[in-house]
Amino acid sequence: MGERISESLHEKLKARLEFYEDLGIRLFYSDRQPSVVAKTSGSNSQFNEIREEESTLIERTRKLPARENLSTASPSPVGTSGLHEVIDQSSAFFKTFATIPGETLSLIQEDLGECTRCKLHKTRNKIVFGDGNPKAKLMFVGEGPGADEDAQGLPFVGRAGKLLTQMIQAMGLQRSDVYICNVVKCRPPQNRQPEKDEVSTCSPFLLRQIDTIGPQVIVCLGATAAKLLLDTEQGISQFRGQWMDFRGRKLMATYHPAYLLRNPAAKSEVWKDLQKVMNELGLEIKKNKPTV
Ligand code: SF4
Repeated sequence: MGERISESLHEKLKARLEFYEDLGIRLFYSDRQPSVVAKTSGSNSQFNEIREEESTLIERTRKLPARENLSTASPSPVGTSGLHEVIDQSSAFFKTFATIPGETLSLIQEDLGECTRCKLHKTRNKIVFGDGNPKAKLMFVGEGPGADEDAQGLPFVGRAGKLLTQMIQAMGLQRSDVYICNVVKCRPPQNRQPEKDEVSTCSPFLLRQIDTIGPQVIVCLGATAAKLLLDTEQGISQFRGQWMDFRGRKLMATYHPAYLLRNPAAKSEVWKDLQKVMNELGLEIKKNKPTV
């Protein structure tokens, strides 16, 4: 039998592994057992029409070039004189994605059903669709559910979620004022990053959520969401904290709360980013930095 390591060494190793997880190296963690997936149900004609529309859009997505062939240039920040003058960095897919008339979050969720469209369905417990104000002016988009979210079916409810809640409150808002969701709705096994086919299959639902909610500002939490919506392979530090455009909406990319848990010094940078968001939304900016 191997020798037991000391408690302090165990804590150091744990912290280091969590740090690697925040960097996107996620193969250290075990995953929960696969769940039983219920049968999907669909009903009214509007739902069926939207399903047909979605199939068309997904088919259109499949015909687009692979994401590795798309732009690797840094996305450019928007100008300061108005959204009509900004540069649209959205991908070809997002540019051609049409808003569906009569869309609601309920219809999107009904359409999603007990989704089996990509392989992530095999290992999830609960789909994490999104949560919050269906008419929010501010929308947060993360990467994908973690273990706590997968268990509860709600976004950002673990340790990182608690920090996000504190950040939202520091802005003078409540979680119920904003809308929170992820790029993929099912937890990737072993908390790995979602793969390209999973992102391309699930992202039309995110896009429909954005179009339906119509937020004034989108905040991307971490690189995965930012790279998807801005169609770039550049690191988030290249454009973090700058106003970008996403289909005519203002987009700000900032660090993921999970990253901040391991790197508290970066909180001040995120707070600067959120102050820009507050300014855009006309929220009062307090002089003192929040103690989150
Ligand atoms: Fe469906 Fe999205 Fe879950 Fe894949 S990640 S199974 S596309 S809901």
